[in-house]
Amino acid sequence: MKTSKPFVIQTLGQMHKQTTWCWLYCSEHQCGHRVAVTLAQFVIRWGPEASSDRLRRSAVCGKCGRRGAITMMPSWMGNERGFAQFPG
Ligand SMILES: [Zn+2]
Repeated sequence: MKTSKPFVIQTLGQMHKQTTWCWLYCSEHQCGHRVAVTLAQFVIRWGPEASSDRLRRSAVCGKCGRRGAITMMPSWMGNERGFAQFPG
């Protein structure tokens, strides 16, 4: 699929409008650790205008201790169910 739209980094507020939570994946591929986080806590901490990059930069892996993460949206479960529920 060809995309002509430039990649736009969302603010935390924009992310939070789409989903209440997301996955944080460790940026170290060998590690592969992931954790589900609710977004409201970061909107409260940094404000809705803060870049979601801040979330990626400040995340610290609970397994290998590396700083930096990749954000992933929850699985889309279809129009009836919407995004997957927060795990746990
Ligand atoms: Zn890790």
